[in-house]
Amino acid sequence: MDLSSYADLAVRLVNTEDLSRPDGDHLTDLAGLRAFFADRPRSRATCTKNDLREMRAIRGRLRAVFELVEAGDVPHAMRKLNTLLGEFPVRPIVTDHDDSDWHLHLSESGSPTQRYVARAVFGLATLVTELTPDRLGVCQSDPCRFVFLDTSTNRSRRYCSERCATRANVAAYRARRKEQASAAS
Ligand SMILES: [Zn+2]
Ligand SMILES: [Zn+2]
Repeated sequence: MDLSSYADLAVRLVNTEDLSRPDGDHLTDLAGLRAFFADRPRSRATCTKNDLREMRAIRGRLRAVFELVEAGDVPHAMRKLNTLLGEFPVRPIVTDHDDSDWHLHLSESGSPTQRYVARAVFGLATLVTELTPDRLGVCQSDPCRFVFLDTSTNRSRRYCSERCATRANVAAYRARRKEQASAAS
């Protein structure tokens, strides 16, 4: 499997908080964390308040990596990523579960937080080195601050979603119309 695809885990964690709304945080209690781990039965069953506290802290630190890249400070972003890589080392194993061919899994041991974050930061590290660090993006459709990975071939992505792209286009169109109207009057 393509290890850079694990970078999606980082995006998914950061985007559990929608900074454009006062009630936009989906990781406020253990029920929220269990919902977040819905597709990871082992983590869902064993996660604790400690995981909740750690996942919330890591979420902020991962957001900082995206925000620093967005602000043009790639070296600082990569230092922060390196710190996370050191704190959450991967523990790779080869496995042939469910009749699949032998393949690599990054991290199957440790707490739910350790397993999740080790994969997420290794995925980010793979993506920024196979492509470039500026592939880490923050949505440009104000007030949205969701993060995303730009894997487009021409590095053109600016928004987290189609919805935000549409909203930004409509806003730009209205601004142009207003300008034309005031120029005509
Ligand atoms: Zn597998
Ligand atoms: Zn957005």
